[in-house]
Amino acid sequence: MADALLEGGVQVPAANFWVQGTKVARLSLERMGEGLTPFPFALIFPQDTHERVLIERLETLGVTVERRTELVRFDQEGDGVRATLRRADGAEETCAASYLAGCDGAHSTVREALAIGFPGGTYADIFFVADVEGSGPATNGEIHVDLGRSDFLAVFPMKGPGRVRLVGTVLERAADEHGQLTFDDVRDRVIGHLRFTIDRVNWFSTYHVHHRVAAKFRERRAFLLGDAAHVHSPVGSQGMNTGIGDAVNLAWKLAAVLNGGTAESLLETYEPERIDFARRLVATTDRAFTVVTDRGPIAWRVRTVLVLPVARLLFRLSAVRRFLFRTVSQIGVNYRDSPLSEGAAGTVRGGDRLPWVETAPHEDNFAPLTGLEWQVHVHGESRRDVAAACAQLGLSLHRFAWQPAMRRAGLTPGALYLVRPDGYVALVDSDGDPERLGRYFLNRGLTATLRRDAATRGDSPSVRAR
Ligand SMILES: Cc1cc2nc3c(=O)[nH]c(=O)nc-3n(C[C@H](O)[C@H](O)[C@H](O)COP(=O)(O)OP(=O)(O)OC[C@H]3O[C@@H](n4cnc5c(N)ncnc54)[C@H](O)[C@@H]3O)c2cc1C
Repeated sequence: MADALLEGGVQVPAANFWVQGTKVARLSLERMGEGLTPFPFALIFPQDTHERVLIERLETLGVTVERRTELVRFDQEGDGVRATLRRADGAEETCAASYLAGCDGAHSTVREALAIGFPGGTYADIFFVADVEGSGPATNGEIHVDLGRSDFLAVFPMKGPGRVRLVGTVLERAADEHGQLTFDDVRDRVIGHLRFTIDRVNWFSTYHVHHRVAAKFRERRAFLLGDAAHVHSPVGSQGMNTGIGDAVNLAWKLAAVLNGGTAESLLETYEPERIDFARRLVATTDRAFTVVTDRGPIAWRVRTVLVLPVARLLFRLSAVRRFLFRTVSQIGVNYRDSPLSEGAAGTVRGGDRLPWVETAPHEDNFAPLTGLEWQVHVHGESRRDVAAACAQLGLSLHRFAWQPAMRRAGLTPGALYLVRPDGYVALVDSDGDPERLGRYFLNRGLTATLRRDAATRGDSPSVRAR
C-alpha cells in the first residue's frame, strides 16, 4: 500500500518552534531515517483517507466492512464467541465466531463487557482539532509548534495549498463546556501567535485526552487492540500507529491458529508483546505532554530558555536524529522478552525488527517479507546444510550477497535469521547453525504453521539468492 500512502500524503521537511509570535528554531526532518527504512522521512497522511485505503484494500481481498452495525453484547460459552449485532434498521442478529478482536475505540464495548479495568487519568484541558485553509508562515508545508506560556498549539500541513490541521488546547474553559465551543473560541490565539490569516474552517471539534492502558489485552477468546487497549495524548503522533502495530501482531497469529492448526498457545504471546510497549508509550507521552503544557512560569522558561536551545544543538547530531526517528517511527519497538524470541548475533537479538538494508539500487532485504510467512535470511556465505534444513522444514531461504552496509545495519555475515510473518526476528544464530531451526518450532508447538505456509505457497519451499 506504500504507493497509495505516499501519493496521498505530505512529506514534511522540518518542524518549527515559535515563542510569543516569533519563530525561534527550525529542526530539519529530512532524511532522518537514512539507512533504516526505504521511507526515511516524516509523512503526514490523514486518518480518514488512511481508513479508506485500508477498506479498499480489504475489498480487493474479499472482505467488506459493514458500517452502521453495532456490537451490542457477546458471550464466550463453549468453544467460540456468540455476538449480538444491531443493524442500521434496528434489527438484531447473532453472529458466531472463533475469536473476537475488540478494535472499538476508547469507549470499547468489548473492554467493558469483559470488565477489564482501564486505569490512568484524564487531562483537565479541553483539546481542539481543526482543518483550516489560510495563509501565513505556518502554511509553508512544515510542522509548527507554538510553545505558548500556558497552552499548546501545533500546525500540521495537509495536501492542498494553504490547508493545515491545527491541534491545540482551549484555554480557561470549564471541562463540561467542550460541546459548545466553536473555532471562534480559539481563533485569536491561532492568529495572534502564528501570524495566520484564516480563509476557511472546514472542520472543528473538541475532545478530552486520557492516558490509560487496559489491565489486560485478552480474556479467553476476546482481544483488545488500538484505543480500546491504550489511549494517550496526541503528542508524538503514535496512537493510530500503535493500534496498527497491535493488529499486525495479532493478525498473523490468528491466521496461523485458524488456518494452519497451530497451537492456541501462540495467541498467548499477543498481550506480553504489546502491553509493555503500550505502558511505556503512555508513560512517555504523559511526561512529554506535561512538560509541554505545564502552566508554571518556571516550566515555561525551562521549555524556551533551556530545552529548546539544547534540543537544537542535539538535533544536529546524527545519532540523536537516528534515535528520534527510530522512536517516532516505532522501528525501535522490540519483542526481546517474548517467549517467541531467541538468540543474538552482533547487535541484533531475537525479538528485534529485522534490520532493513538496500541490497542493490531499488532492491532490499524486505522484498521477501511481502509473503507474510516464516522465512530464513542469511547474509554472505551460509553453512552448506542450511538449505537442506530449510527444505525439510518447509521454510523459504533467502540468501543475500554480503556488503558493508549490512554490518552498519547490525547484521552479521553467515548468521542465520529466522524471520516471523510480521518481519520480526524470531531466532538468530551467529554460527548459522540450522539445527536450531527445527528445535525452535518443536519447542513452541509451531511446526503446523510451516505446513500451512508451504500449502499456501502451493509449491516446495524456495531458495533464493539475491
Ligand atoms: C487530534 C488527534 C490527532 C491524532 N494524531 C495522530 C497521529 O498523528 N498519529 C497517530 O498514529 N495517531 C494519532 N491520533 C490517534 C488516533 O486517532 C487513534 O489512536 C486511532 O483513531 C485509534 O484507532 P482505533 O481503530 O483503535 O479506534 P477508533 O478510531 O476510535 O475506531 C473505533 C471504531 O469502532 C467503532 N465502534 C465503537 N463501538 C462499537 C460497537 N459497539 N460496535 C461496533 N463498532 C463500534 C467506532 O464507531 C469506530 O469506528 C490522533 C488523535 C487525535 C484525537
